[in-house]
Amino acid sequence: MKVYIEPIGKLINEFSKLPGVGTKTAQRFAYKVVNMSEDEAKEFSDAILNVKKNVKYCKICGNFSEKEVCDICEERSHDVICVVKEPKDVIAIEKLNEYNGVYHVLHGTISPLEGIGPNDIDIKGLLSRIEKGNVKEIIMATNPDVEGEATAMYICGLIKPLGIKVTRLAHGIP
Ligand code: ZN
Repeated sequence: MKVYIEPIGKLINEFSKLPGVGTKTAQRFAYKVVNMSEDEAKEFSDAILNVKKNVKYCKICGNFSEKEVCDICEERSHDVICVVKEPKDVIAIEKLNEYNGVYHVLHGTISPLEGIGPNDIDIKGLLSRIEKGNVKEIIMATNPDVEGEATAMYICGLIKPLGIKVTRLAHGIP
């Protein structure tokens, strides 16, 4: 005997793919959707498809963007680049309203244990930005964990010889 009728079982299965969502929560989500009006359900599923259709990576900084080049890269000076692990780190720093430079999203940190090396994250993109532009300072804002520190040190070793100031955000991202 199947526990759920098929459409509900399928939806529970999809929700349980989300990070931090166990079977119980997935079941709660699915029941909520069952009780939505058709319009609400459509809005929900459209939002998911819309993200897939319209969100890309900025070709300069690697952050999420609706356009080729994101608003931050378009509007701000490129003198100072703040290097972060993921797009959500950009949001965290932007919320502080204290930083006016641009970003570089690495999309990961070096982690020998997980087999992630320097070539698996976007260090190359950062170096080519430095080669091209008038970058004066790099702020390393990778997380204050082992991987974040290792990544910051590695990048620091590449950039310092180029005569560019490198600062480490002391406590990582709030
Ligand atoms: Zn950008």
